[in-house]
Amino acid sequence: MSFRLKTILGIAMIELTVMVALIGFNHFALGGSASTQLYERAEAVSRIFANAVSDAVIATDLATLDATIASAVSDEEVTYLRIKSASGAVLAQGGDAAALATPFVRDADFEAAQSDHLIDVDLQIVVAGTAYGAIELGLSTLAVEEQISQALKWNILVALLGMSLVAVFGYGLGTILTRQLRGLRQGARAIAAGDLSCQIKVHGRDELADTARCFNNMAQKLERDRAVLQEQQDELLDKKARVEVLVGCLRDISEDRDIAEVPDAKRPDEIGDMARATVAFYNAKKKIERARLQQQRLVSAFDQVDEQVAIFGTDGTLLFANRAFRSFNAEICEALPPHFTLRGFLNTGLKQGAFPNVADKAAWVDEQMAHQNGSPYEIQRSGNCVLLATQSRIEGIGTVFSARDVTELRNSENQLIQASKLATLGEMATGVAHELNQPLGVIRMAATNCVKRIDKGKWDVDYLRSKLVRVGEQTSRAAQIIDHMRLFGRKADGVHSPFDLRQSLTEILALARPKLSTGDVSLTLDLPDGTAFVMGERVIFEQVLLNLVSNAHDAIQSSGETEGKIVVSASFDGEDGHVIKVTDNGGGVPEALLDKLFEPFFTTKDPGKGTGLGLSISFGTIRDMGGKLSVHNAQTGACFKICLPAFQHEAVVENEQIDPAA
Ligand code: ADP
Repeated sequence: MSFRLKTILGIAMIELTVMVALIGFNHFALGGSASTQLYERAEAVSRIFANAVSDAVIATDLATLDATIASAVSDEEVTYLRIKSASGAVLAQGGDAAALATPFVRDADFEAAQSDHLIDVDLQIVVAGTAYGAIELGLSTLAVEEQISQALKWNILVALLGMSLVAVFGYGLGTILTRQLRGLRQGARAIAAGDLSCQIKVHGRDELADTARCFNNMAQKLERDRAVLQEQQDELLDKKARVEVLVGCLRDISEDRDIAEVPDAKRPDEIGDMARATVAFYNAKKKIERARLQQQRLVSAFDQVDEQVAIFGTDGTLLFANRAFRSFNAEICEALPPHFTLRGFLNTGLKQGAFPNVADKAAWVDEQMAHQNGSPYEIQRSGNCVLLATQSRIEGIGTVFSARDVTELRNSENQLIQASKLATLGEMATGVAHELNQPLGVIRMAATNCVKRIDKGKWDVDYLRSKLVRVGEQTSRAAQIIDHMRLFGRKADGVHSPFDLRQSLTEILALARPKLSTGDVSLTLDLPDGTAFVMGERVIFEQVLLNLVSNAHDAIQSSGETEGKIVVSASFDGEDGHVIKVTDNGGGVPEALLDKLFEPFFTTKDPGKGTGLGLSISFGTIRDMGGKLSVHNAQTGACFKICLPAFQHEAVVENEQIDPAA
């Protein structure tokens, strides 16, 4: 039921109730009053008639009585009139016959009269206290009843009219009142149907108008919000579509398909970020693929080379080992897990007897692990096999270990050394001859003098003895020189023993000096006092010295220096142990080449003149003695510096090979 209908019905019900109450009140109030008035009138009329006819009754003037009655009943209201004597006899009567024929019964009130629509009243005719008769009067109630009925009808009519008016006004009012509500309802329905642009008409300034205004504001705001939401939704849908495209690209990339172009890479928003990340991912993947390809090529290239290569990561574990490494060290590798460390490799090799049987295994392993500066070093393997190895630390990768079998090279080198020594011996022949000449000259002189004395018959025993002693001494000296040559010409046996640097330097440089003097190069030996023992193979050490002096000589010659100078100086028992320096004035070594000097086969000499092995062998020799050979440029030429650990003097006492007093 609509609000308007409820309003109309409500008002109609109120109106009906009020009308019914009004009509009821009117009916009963008006009816009551009319009937009472009628009843009182009936009594008043009866009193008037009683007075009017009292004389005629006393006089029994029937004619007057009849005339009076005729006059009385001429009134429509008076239905009948009867006049009785004191004895009850009817003196005169007139009016409605039917009413006259009906026995008279006085009506006590108006209700009693209503049954026959007559008010029956009677009154004694009393004059001076004496009752002379009575009158009976019947007064019609029809007129009053008709009035009451008419009044009721009018009331009802008015009520109906009022109700109709109320209904019309109620309808109008309801229409006016519910008009705003209808607008609100239509607006709400429109909004429910999705039409947020609807605006309802605002009538007046009442609460409903306020509500309507609020409704309109709400609708506007909803529309704005919906527009924003729609925009955002459109944006999201657009992004979703673009993300799907990017996901497709990523799928293509991850499934190794090529992609033509990544869209939206220039957008400044998060889709652009994603697109750029996808491009970066694609490029990175391509790079990785290229790197992998290169890696495969590198691995197969590494596998082709004879050099053993193993790469250990920053955590020390094996990343890669080439075929040469794995096949050469197959037995050791088999006993190790796949990602072994270099230390583990060395320890396992030691256990298997692949490396030298050293007393202090841990120290040996530590020593091997210490070669991480990229300098070449030798590893002795079982079966007289020698490896030339390097360990280079590479930032971000770890350590690259490489090794190659130089057994044959070493053998050749040894042969070369031997040949070179023999050649040196040949070159030293002049020096040797010169050295031998001295004692031989002394011996000859002594012998000649002795012979002269004997020939003269002078047998001075003391003189002869002193000469013979001199001869003996010089013979020993000559024997020493010959011994040294023999020693120098001998093959190296690898046995280290203590020897005195002073003696070694003096003797070997004495042999070398005559050769140098032929080229106008002076050799100065500057040694401190005292002995300086080191441990090593003396002949090999002397070969190093001869090599350094020979190189210095060559440098001076090729520099064109006319006053060549080679200085061999030494300082004993210093901070660096025993130090020997060989300095020349041959111009030095170009700075860029300083690092390469000790590399095997590095030479700047003409083909056939230099082998490039001298310094690399010398470097290994000094290192094997526990020392270090280094080079730097001095003022006028190169300076080679040998540092050797000092050997404990007490330990030399038993040594027979060297006689410091000789
Ligand atoms: P080789 O003498 O057969 O060339 P080395 O290993 O003895 O081999 O020497 C390598 C190179 O070092 C020489 O070719 C030379 O260029 C350089 N060198 C050695 N000693 C000197 C020096 N005293 N002054 C200048 N350069 C030198």
